[in-house]
This record gives sequence, structure tokens and C-alpha cells, in this order.
Amino acid sequence: MSGSAARIIDGKASAALVRAAVRETALHLTARGHRPGLAVVLVGEDPASQVYVRNKDRAASEAGFDVRTLRLPATTTQEELERAVAGLNADASVHGILVQLPLPKHLDAARVVCALDPAKDVDGLHPQNVAALMMGAPGLFPCTPAGCIELCDRNDIPLEGRRVAVIGRSLLVGKPLALMCLARNATVTLAHSRTRDLASVVRESEIVVAAVGVAGLVRGDWIRPGAAVIDVGMNRTSEGKLVGDVCFDEAMARAGAITPVPGGVGPMTIAMLLKNTAAACATLCGIALEVAAPRKS
Ligand code: NAP
Repeated sequence: MSGSAARIIDGKASAALVRAAVRETALHLTARGHRPGLAVVLVGEDPASQVYVRNKDRAASEAGFDVRTLRLPATTTQEELERAVAGLNADASVHGILVQLPLPKHLDAARVVCALDPAKDVDGLHPQNVAALMMGAPGLFPCTPAGCIELCDRNDIPLEGRRVAVIGRSLLVGKPLALMCLARNATVTLAHSRTRDLASVVRESEIVVAAVGVAGLVRGDWIRPGAAVIDVGMNRTSEGKLVGDVCFDEAMARAGAITPVPGGVGPMTIAMLLKNTAAACATLCGIALEVAAPRKS
């Protein structure tokens, strides 16, 4: 046992530091005549998507970006949506394009993602960016896993040589996160719904990242004493409370450090979207950005 309660990793504080750094970058780019431009494409009226898009819009405006939301009706056809994307690809004032997912059922999200200019794909989902991550080449990478790595960097959680369990293998979170941890010289186990004896995989790990979508899946007694626990899960209980994939109270007694839900990984996702957009703007405009050393929260 670690003998004391875990340190709580403050995602809001780390995200605020990332956003402040992005604001500085945006000022620098704007002074050179290249104000970062983010276009968000929203198809239909999904209420959760409306909230996400509003939050991204506000955060991008606060960062000093030129942000526009393209609202398309739920009846938009595949061709119309791809034509809208092509227009944004061709627009030199747009440096980042984000197509809010999920799309209405009649639309093929993979085809839309492939239609994006990879240099403007700030969600990091275009096959060219997926390949870049796999190959260790420069590119734009998914925001939530990048936010997990940034949280580790800013909160004294080294990855080098550590045993990391990533639970969940989605294209959006688990798989890219496993690759990012590997690129940082961690030894990674990528677990999923068919993993046998998940508890022992977690028990062997010095860092555990849960990205599943099952409330309270990871029990406290699975956690190796002193391990770092990053909880990506966002689940609503029947009482409407937002909880993660980890039994937080149980894990608090064993972990060395833990992210809360809400207030852990969540705030980092938007911060990394802003960081990707500023980086895309710099790359498209041929401006070298100094990479700031990670700062602690
Ligand atoms: P997803 O696409 O549904 O993937 C879930 C993964 O969990 C799958 O790989 C699945 O395995 C695995 N899984 C399901 N049940 C399992 C079990 N009992 N044991 C072990 N693995 C299991 O979900 P996602 O998009 O990656 O999102 C995961 C969670 O993160 C959700 O709660 C989501 O809301 C949250 N999230 C949060 C943020 C944020 O900003 N904080 C961003 C994105 C997602 P199989 O592949 O075998 O089916």
C-alpha cells in the first residue's frame, strides 16, 4: 500500500497552462499576419454535439483564433458535406478543420475524414496522420491521448521505461495513446474487452489509463500501490452524475496520483485541439515555433 491518499492531478490547471501558451503562440502568429483559423463543421441537431461545439468555439475565441462554425442541416448529403470540406481545405484563412462526430447515420464519417486536408486535420484522424504517429513522423495527433501525455509531462509522471496499461483500443483514444506511450519508451500493454484477467494486467502496471466507457470498471484493489491512474472515461450515472472508468474513492487509497472525473483529462482535450490548430497554422504558414518546455501545473 502507498499508505496515504493519492495526489489528485488537476487537469483544469494543466489545461489552463496549455491554453495560455497557445494564446501567446496565436499572438505571435497574428503579429506575422497569420491569425490561426479554426473551422468547426456541425451536421444536424445532436444536443451533446451542440454543447461540445459551443465549448470549442468559446475556447478558440479566447485563444485569439478566428473561429467559425459551419452548421449544416441533418439532411446534408455526403457530397454536400465533402464539398463543404473541400471549400475549407482551399480557404487559406482556415488552418484547422474539425468535423464534429458522430455524424447522422446516413453519412460516412471515414470518407469525410479522408476528404480533409491532412495538414488541417486537427483531430488527427486522417490516415496520413495515423501513419505519421505509427512511424514517429511529424503530424497532427488525436487530442485526448495527446492530452493524457501532456498531463503526465506536466505532473511528474515519467513514461520512459515504465509499464503502462492502456485499457480501450479505439482509434480516437486507446490505440493512438498506446503508440504515443511507446514513442516515449514506455512498455505498453493495450487491453480491451477480450483481455483475460484485466485485473492482473493493471496490477503489473506503474501507469494505468482507462479509456473504456464503463463506470467503475477498474477497482481499487487492481491498482499497484503508488501507480499513476489516468481516467479518460466519461460516464453518466442514473442520477446524472459524471464519473470515470475507475472507482475513484477505492483507487485514491492505493494510487500515487490520479486524475478526477470531471476535471482531469476532459479539460486537456480542448486545450490540445487549440495547440494542434496553432501548430497547423504555423506549419501551413511556414513559421517555426519554439517548443516550450513542459511546465508543471
Ligand atoms: P469506444 O470507441 O467505445 O472504445 C471503448 C474501448 O473499451 C474498446 O476498445 C472496448 O474493447 C473497450 N472495452 C469495453 N468494455 C471493456 C471491458 N469490460 N474491459 C476492457 N475493455 C473494454 O470508446 P472511446 O471513444 O475510446 O471512449 C472511451 C471513454 O472515454 C468513453 O467513456 C468516452 O466518453 C471517454 N472519452 C473522453 C474524452 C475526454 O475528453 N475526456 C474524449 C474521448 C472519449 P473492444 O475494442 O474489444 O470492443
